[in-house]
Amino acid sequence: RNTAEKFEFQAEVSRLMDIIINSLYSNKDIFLRELISNASDALDKIRFLSLTDKEVLGEGDNAKLEILIKLDKEKRILSIRDRGIGMTKEDLIKNLGTIAKSGTSAFVEKMQTSGDLNLIGQFGVGFYSVYLVADYVEVISKNNDDKQHVWESKADGQFAISEDTWNEPLGRGTEIRLHLREEAGEYLEEAKLKDLVKRYSEFINFPIYLWATKEVEKEVPADDDDTSDEEETKTTNEWELLNDVKAIWLRNPKEVTDEEYTKFYHSLAKDFGDEKPLAWSHFNAEGDVEFKAVLFVPPKAPQDLYESYYNNNKASVKLYVRRVFISDEFDELLPKYLSFLQGLVDSDTLPLNVSREMLQQHSSLKTIKKKLIRKALDMIRKIAEEDPDENDGKDKKDVEKSDDDEKKGQYTKFWNEFGKSVKLGIIEDATNRNRLAKLLRFETTKSDGKLTSLDQYISRMKSGQKDIFYITGTNKEQLEKSPFLERLSKKGYEVIFFTDPVDEYLMQYLMDYEDKKFQNVSKEGLKLGKDSKDKEIKESYKELTKWWKGTLASEKVDDVKISNRLADTPCVVVTSKFGWSANMERIMQSQTL
Ligand code: ADP
Ligand code: MG
Repeated sequence: RNTAEKFEFQAEVSRLMDIIINSLYSNKDIFLRELISNASDALDKIRFLSLTDKEVLGEGDNAKLEILIKLDKEKRILSIRDRGIGMTKEDLIKNLGTIAKSGTSAFVEKMQTSGDLNLIGQFGVGFYSVYLVADYVEVISKNNDDKQHVWESKADGQFAISEDTWNEPLGRGTEIRLHLREEAGEYLEEAKLKDLVKRYSEFINFPIYLWATKEVEKEVPADDDDTSDEEETKTTNEWELLNDVKAIWLRNPKEVTDEEYTKFYHSLAKDFGDEKPLAWSHFNAEGDVEFKAVLFVPPKAPQDLYESYYNNNKASVKLYVRRVFISDEFDELLPKYLSFLQGLVDSDTLPLNVSREMLQQHSSLKTIKKKLIRKALDMIRKIAEEDPDENDGKDKKDVEKSDDDEKKGQYTKFWNEFGKSVKLGIIEDATNRNRLAKLLRFETTKSDGKLTSLDQYISRMKSGQKDIFYITGTNKEQLEKSPFLERLSKKGYEVIFFTDPVDEYLMQYLMDYEDKKFQNVSKEGLKLGKDSKDKEIKESYKELTKWWKGTLASEKVDDVKISNRLADTPCVVVTSKFGWSANMERIMQSQTL
């Protein structure tokens, strides 16, 4: 069209589109899931605005919050329409021409090598998957604040936008028209679309209709002698509802199957791999603040989980109020250290007709947060409790055998993916410090390469041992050779290895556990069981220690003492009680670079 304004795609988008267009990726179906997910987001947005301003919805069909799919077999067009918020001209340029989210180039990089498009939705570029099946796409959109516009592109590096003067007015919302490629004919089959919607869009909370062909009986004239071979049916079209919109979290947990939870997780997390979540918790909170919630521990940590931990405010628990989606950016719902969880909260107590900002300050959120943390920590504890590897030698008669296999090794998996979050939790969350400490795992001088817990450590403590011993350093191999362990090992004491840089910080917050204090064995204050000869030896070397102390300038050492931790090594430098350990010095030095 002559009047159309032409735009170049951002270079990054062009690159992505090229990859998509030339992709041999076999699962082209995913485009439909992405389009329906966008339609659903747009409906969520207009519904949210309507809470404070009913006018935005308009009247009649316009007010129906629904998704409509239509096929035109002759013209080979598949169209998906929603009555969502729609896009202004500016929105079209911005949303369908540039990539807002960071990390996209990493995704492009990854896709080039793996060719796996399954995670496209997580990167905020799901729309472009339309070019898996279409060579020409039109996006017709009407937002309340603008006239109706058409965006169109043949994925040739540019797109065009025109004011729409020829299509039927949409009222409000967006219609995406896919001009299907030669080899994508299967998406013109009703059965295929029905199947895809069922499979991928089960948890969309708006009705999805297909303009489906129906066979109807032909009206038979009364004087027909019924001998003709002519078929007695003809076809018409009608809107057929494809999904069941009963939200999974409103159902009784006893009636929801594992498979349903897994699929729900995939749709929440936009993670369509085939891995099961490590655990989930579905509960109903009653009392002053009522809400329903489902929480999931993902099977894997996202790559950037700890990269910009303190600047990243990404929340992944979605907030609903009385079935209405409010936000997935409420970081008030869970503390930072639990931000790796996926899930959803739906509250009946929170008010519906206030702004997001007001809601954010609502006092009920504190109560919700408190309960969510409890449930989350319970859920994680249960992964360990049900893992046969964690309960070696314990009576396991409550756990069925088949269950056993599935749960085996799950806690180690959890620990490897999210252990750092538990440690950050101990640092951040004083209230739940003890609960979190129970979830800690580490290796020790006696754990034989396996992970062990504080409870297990305590159960093995020697009689007379008061403190929990640990040592910090870069790795286990180096620590095993440490002279600080000589005498402890000889006497049979178990010492924990802390080898993660965060462990040094952790131990500044974790002072004690179950009435036992933590003692860094490279620091002053190490007390082993009483040895009758200690006093005698101390006395006989009194002069020597005095001489040493005098010889070493006092700004270099605080004190010189007879050691109770060495066996073969003649002497060792120990950190004072309140000083940094040698390992901490090392960490601090590497950080000031
Ligand atoms: P994401 O959905 O993760 O943001 P997409 O590539 O799927 O990424 O979509 C990009 C943007 O385009 C969306 O964020 C939204 O602003 C806009 N958009 C896409 N489809 C629609 C639609 N049906 N209605 C309104 N806006 C849409
Ligand atoms: Mg999307």
